[in-house]
Amino acid sequence: MSRLGYGTCTDIASVVINEKVEVSNATLRQKIRTRLASGSLFPVDGKVVAGKATGKLCTLCAMPIFATEVEHEVMEPQTAYAHMTCHSLWVQESKMLGKSRE
Ligand SMILES: [Zn+2]
Repeated sequence: MSRLGYGTCTDIASVVINEKVEVSNATLRQKIRTRLASGSLFPVDGKVVAGKATGKLCTLCAMPIFATEVEHEVMEPQTAYAHMTCHSLWVQESKMLGKSRE
């Protein structure tokens, strides 16, 4: 009775999803800056309501905010929805804009 040689159980290298968020962030940041400067986007002060996403489109990147993500809802001066990362860029750029105007 021969035994089939079982191959060594090598661990399959786990798939690493390397999210290159920083690259897209730079592009998005530039877009936000341009829109803020042109007035097509209002500045925010960081006041936001974070909650479970309801499938709204992100005001900044125009991508849907999926249920697995956190939705950031801006109430003032207008209602807008954004991803957490997009919103943080928005706040940063709004502050930059405020500083440049002083
Ligand atoms: Zn977004």
